[in-house]
Amino acid sequence: MPELPEVETIRRDLAATIVGRRIIGVTLNWPHMVLHPSPEDFSCRLVGHCVHQVDRRGKYLILRLESGDALILHLRMSGSLLIALDEEPDRYCRAVFLLDDGARLCFRDPRKLGKMWLVEDENSVVGGLGPEPLEGRLTAEALGQRLAGRSAPVKALLCDQSVIAGVGNMYADEALFAAGIHPLHRANTLTRQEVRRLHRALRRVLSGAIDSHGASVNDYWRPDGEPGTAQFEFKVAHRGGKPCPDCGTAIQRIPIRGRGSCFCPRCQKAAR
Ligand SMILES: [Zn+2]
Repeated sequence: MPELPEVETIRRDLAATIVGRRIIGVTLNWPHMVLHPSPEDFSCRLVGHCVHQVDRRGKYLILRLESGDALILHLRMSGSLLIALDEEPDRYCRAVFLLDDGARLCFRDPRKLGKMWLVEDENSVVGGLGPEPLEGRLTAEALGQRLAGRSAPVKALLCDQSVIAGVGNMYADEALFAAGIHPLHRANTLTRQEVRRLHRALRRVLSGAIDSHGASVNDYWRPDGEPGTAQFEFKVAHRGGKPCPDCGTAIQRIPIRGRGSCFCPRCQKAAR
């Protein structure tokens, strides 16, 4: 699933290519992905308007239009946004936005789980998200406060979008490994020093993955069709059974709240 680094990569790539472009046509091949307004109103309100700015909040991409509306997209499990110039969109393109320079912005989504909204007030969609992990507002102290009093496994809280926005399964696993913290460690028993290590690890892991243009596992591609390379730097994520790069112990994979969590049982000591 695309997480913060993948969505941020898409944001940067789209900002460089579609800002200032006018949407001149919308084709919805899977109208169920539009959650607001009706698919008909969605298309009507988009056509004729310029993309003013491309922003991101957590794993949501926000295309601001000159009309004042915000087109919000969530790629969920298998979505990607591709700029097609000449080639015809393939059968997995669920929505196609035709732009005034002849390019097409395609929402490709084999599993049909992606979602879109067109709203005046973006808070109606993204208002419940926690702080951005790469912004200064989320200091180590602020992270500690958000984890304090919570007895859930730290891994589950890192993936909870109301605690921190944008972190998902892969980067939570990577950050916990980098901080030497077991994913089942109860959040309220982390020491101050462990929280500080986790804060630093989160920022480093996410920034590094953005520098590598995200991780191309499953169906993530950059808008120009190129893959990201962050997966080559993964130490535990998607590496169950393989040797830990630091100590050689086999990486374990266990379910935590229904998600496979990968960690090194030696480098990440069991929860107290
Ligand atoms: Zn290890």
